Amino acid sequence: MIPVNDPFLCQQCGFQNVKALRSYRNHCRRCLFSLHVDDQIPGDRLSSCNALMEPISARVHAKKEYEILHECQQCGKKITNKAASDDDVEKIIHLSVNPFSYVSRSKKKS
Ligand SMILES: [Zn+2]
Ligand SMILES: [Zn+2]
Repeated sequence: MIPVNDPFLCQQCGFQNVKALRSYRNHCRRCLFSLHVDDQIPGDRLSSCNALMEPISARVHAKKEYEILHECQQCGKKITNKAASDDDVEKIIHLSVNPFSYVSRSKKKS
């Protein structure tokens, strides 16, 4: 996994995101939108889609930690992301009213 932790300007709401404190940042901390830049692994930057990904659901991942489910508005791909400690918690809690079930990142061929 390649940790990606760059400041970026949100294409959805225009918020200037600074670097994450303890983790890499892959979504806007204000509106929680992400960009479809990763293919299989968060940070791999292998996708050529680059469309906006909408936060559609969230769930509690561990104690006081949330996972956000993003859906690409262009290709429909769904990716789960760990919420950052400085994300807008109220928005995450709002999303977690409809928690998602586990979405596997890659289907095992067996
Ligand atoms: Zn934003
Ligand atoms: Zn996409």
